[in-house]
Amino acid sequence: MTQDQLIHRYDAVMMNAFGAPKRVFARGEGVHVWDADGRRYTDLLSGIAVLALGHANPAVTRAITDQLHQLGHVSNFFASEPQIRLAERLAALTGAAETRVFFANSGTEANEAAFKITRLTRRTRIIAMEGSFHGRTMGALALTSSEKYRAPFEPLPGDVTFVPFGDAPALAAAVDETVAAVILETVQGENGVVPVPAGFLAEARRITREAGALLWIDEVQTGMGRSGEYLAHRADGIVADLVTLAKGLGNGFPIGACLASGPAAGLITPGLHGTTFGGNPVAAAAGNAVLDQLEGGVLENARAVGAWLADAIRELGHPKIAEVRGRGLLLGVVLTEDIAPRVADAALEAGWIINAPRPGVLRVAPPLISTREDLEGFVAVLPGLLDAHG
Ligand SMILES: *Cc1c(COP(=O)(O)O)cnc(C)c1O
Repeated sequence: MTQDQLIHRYDAVMMNAFGAPKRVFARGEGVHVWDADGRRYTDLLSGIAVLALGHANPAVTRAITDQLHQLGHVSNFFASEPQIRLAERLAALTGAAETRVFFANSGTEANEAAFKITRLTRRTRIIAMEGSFHGRTMGALALTSSEKYRAPFEPLPGDVTFVPFGDAPALAAAVDETVAAVILETVQGENGVVPVPAGFLAEARRITREAGALLWIDEVQTGMGRSGEYLAHRADGIVADLVTLAKGLGNGFPIGACLASGPAAGLITPGLHGTTFGGNPVAAAAGNAVLDQLEGGVLENARAVGAWLADAIRELGHPKIAEVRGRGLLLGVVLTEDIAPRVADAALEAGWIINAPRPGVLRVAPPLISTREDLEGFVAVLPGLLDAHG
């Protein structure tokens, strides 16, 4: 069946949540995917910062398959060894003396778990950042700043105040002893790959500690090696109370995690939260397989190739490129004009998958296993794509 026929069927049956799909994909391997007509693309978006190890990664596929043959699901009345092992490995990343883990199936669900934990402090106010994105369920949406996403669904769970991202005096003014938590991202991916300004995380840590509020870092997009670190905020030397993870954790197998440390670690007790699928052995096996490879050199690759790619795009010196920002292999190419959606469409036509999280920003987030050779072609075509549009 051709791609046009499949898109026609999609349009007739799928809820129109995402607009018309730009392609229907049939197969993937490493940094490449093939559409239903057999055309090959290089995936520089990784399913939105998900496929850290690329498509159809053999070790992840093997781990999932073996686990599925052995034990696929048990419910949370019971436990499994892969789940326990993954929790131990994630807890070891936080830098805290004690971390407790709750597994979910997505980023927004990891954030719901953390949101509920903040309510158990007996305080209710939450301070979130302008430009934030934390997910689409009602709780996570309440913490997401975009008016367009929020307005149709109000009233949302209340008591959320937004402050400018990176503005320490504004944060200090907003945080008092009524505040349960401050939530922020280390890089605002959906806002156009905006990294947190230097020093802000340390200030946020100091301000929250002094007020007895929790510091909650949403690492759903930046975590698990995307930034070149296991957890991006650890590069700033701080320890958070709540850390949420999802996108890269299962290399495409759905899994999320909420890591609660210090004063947040013991707040969930039986009956207060739950999930049917979260932490199932197959998802945990995927997470363990991802961690195995991050430990085996993939993290270093993300750092080195990310630094090279950012420099290579900067060195183009193209007049429509204002700036290249981000961390590791989560890069935003900031343009001087709002032509990013058209440039992303043209890139797709040329066989390169990127996206435009903002009208003036291209997001480039290739698999963490990408080599320079995989990406050189994109750097070479980018000036032509920019010249042809706007
Ligand atoms: C994608 C994302 C989410 C939501 O994750 P889903 O798996 O889509 O629910 C939350 N926070 C951040 C920072 C994200 O990038």
